[in-house]
Amino acid sequence: MKILVLNCGSSSIKYQLFDMSDRSVLAKGGIEKLGMKGSFLKHKRGGEAAVFFDGEILDHKAGVEYILGVLTSEKYGSLKSLNEIDAVGHRVVHGGEFFSSSELITDEVVAALVRCTSLAPLHNPPNLRGIEAMQELLPGAPQVGVFDTAFHQSMSPVAFMYGIPYVLYEKYGVRRYGFHGTSHRYVTQRACEILNRDFLTQKIISCHLGNGASIAAVSNGKSADTSMGFTPLEGLIMGTRSGDLDVGAVTYIMEQEEIGLKSANLLFNKHSGMLGLSGVSSDMREIEQAAADGNDRARLSLDIYNYRVKKYIGSYIAALGGLDILIFTGGIGENSDSTRRGILNNMEFLGIEADESRNAGSHGKEQIISKDGSRVTVMVVPTDEELMIALDTEKIIGQG
Ligand code: ADP
Repeated sequence: MKILVLNCGSSSIKYQLFDMSDRSVLAKGGIEKLGMKGSFLKHKRGGEAAVFFDGEILDHKAGVEYILGVLTSEKYGSLKSLNEIDAVGHRVVHGGEFFSSSELITDEVVAALVRCTSLAPLHNPPNLRGIEAMQELLPGAPQVGVFDTAFHQSMSPVAFMYGIPYVLYEKYGVRRYGFHGTSHRYVTQRACEILNRDFLTQKIISCHLGNGASIAAVSNGKSADTSMGFTPLEGLIMGTRSGDLDVGAVTYIMEQEEIGLKSANLLFNKHSGMLGLSGVSSDMREIEQAAADGNDRARLSLDIYNYRVKKYIGSYIAALGGLDILIFTGGIGENSDSTRRGILNNMEFLGIEADESRNAGSHGKEQIISKDGSRVTVMVVPTDEELMIALDTEKIIGQG
């Protein structure tokens, strides 16, 4: 079975074509600067070098058409005909309270997604455009929606409600939803597979540390809590997002700086986090380099980053009533041994005993980084959201 996974953003479309018989990636790539001058498609077949195609790619439909054209082209393609695509899996950012698992896309599902648009005005519309384009261009292939929020729908109201008037939840759905659910689900399941443990019995904390970052507490195979909330702004300090912040500070800054909603949104989403703190970059590698070169603010921002993650781990151990597995994933979690070291130090009293040489040697591959006798198994598990989407799609169309 061949499954195409599509991730449509406002100015980008990423794709991966899987052969599910051995879960291999036949081709992958993406369009960037969609709808802008200089838009291009980067395409990579199997292990071959990437090829680039320039073109005026004006909208999602044109983008999807372009991708399908390359996938079936004689020179760069992996398919003889589009009929070989058995199904399409879509990454969808917000499924609101409608979806607690992946779903075959039907008219009802599309209608529910349209209703979720106000919750994710930047993300859901491009996701919907990708679905519409595929329905038009590949009418024979079933499509499946895999939602970033779905895994966290198992959170109880105790974890997902904010301390604001209840009516605001009833009227507008203001509550914590959480994101990165597909990644947290993949790495927690994968960790149990690697360790040969029953997913349904384990208490797991997974730290997804990428440009966006979130941490999830998983118990009995279900998400019990996660650090992102109503929007992906809450929780950990991220590349450009502030993470947790006193609402009083927000209104005070808006008043002092005389800025409105739009500017405040930009300030806390795009100019804060590690970029705002360090003054160097939002990119962890550059901040680490600056700190190594003696930049004190860069050093401080790394310490603040690690401290926030450590605090969340502590609070989630309390929430779960213990811990069996602690996972690091995402570009930073998978690759930055110094970040992991900074987070994991002095955690022995909680049964978390990192092995320094295992940690130092772990970059981008599945590996246990705790000592053999550590009560909590600490692991690096590279995330693979696209594979998870393909697996869900395969499962759902297999049921149909
Ligand atoms: P996204 O959320 O956009 O998918 P990624 O998961 O790719 O982001 O993570 C990007 C982050 O990972 C960047 O801050 C980058 O600097 C960091 N990163 C990648 N490789 C390393 C490395 N070897 N050491 C430290 N940080 C790294």
